Amino acid sequence: MKTLLLTPWMTPHNIVPWQTAVTLMFLGKVEILEEYDEQISSPSVSLRAPAVARLKKPVGAVKRGVKFSRINVFTRDGFRCQYCGARRLMRELNYDHVTPRTQGGRTVWENIVTCCYPCNERKSCRTPEQAGMKLLRAPIRPKSLPISHLYLEAHQVPPEWNGYCTPASDGGDAVLLATG
Ligand SMILES: [Zn+2]
Repeated sequence: MKTLLLTPWMTPHNIVPWQTAVTLMFLGKVEILEEYDEQISSPSVSLRAPAVARLKKPVGAVKRGVKFSRINVFTRDGFRCQYCGARRLMRELNYDHVTPRTQGGRTVWENIVTCCYPCNERKSCRTPEQAGMKLLRAPIRPKSLPISHLYLEAHQVPPEWNGYCTPASDGGDAVLLATG
């Protein structure tokens, strides 16, 4: 079971294991807005698993700059393969070292782009020049991320999250979450 974590402004922020949400609750960092029916029991506590929780304070992404992570790279690139331009679900995306690691490329914002699996395979352990492929745009370290999008399949979204996330406008079975 997963918990939908909201920003103080009620926009989706992240999806975390329910255990993380319970820990945050005991630390007083979140308030629980929705619960699952399932009861969690341990020798010391008995409670229902949190379905939706709201952070009481914003998390410090603004001061520290944007953390390097897979999802943030996908977000920077708008969930589009930076070679063929196709927009994909998160599980259909990989990240690509522009200069391959075998040629000294590092795992940093400036050398990582979102890539679909077919393009990733085609490029293999080559630079874009060597592979005859062109990047849509040069990767940069973002100062901040725009409203980001997290794609989930509809069946992954529990009914308890209804009203807290918005269906994707481009149809399909994807659900679009604006994360703040
Ligand atoms: Zn591609």
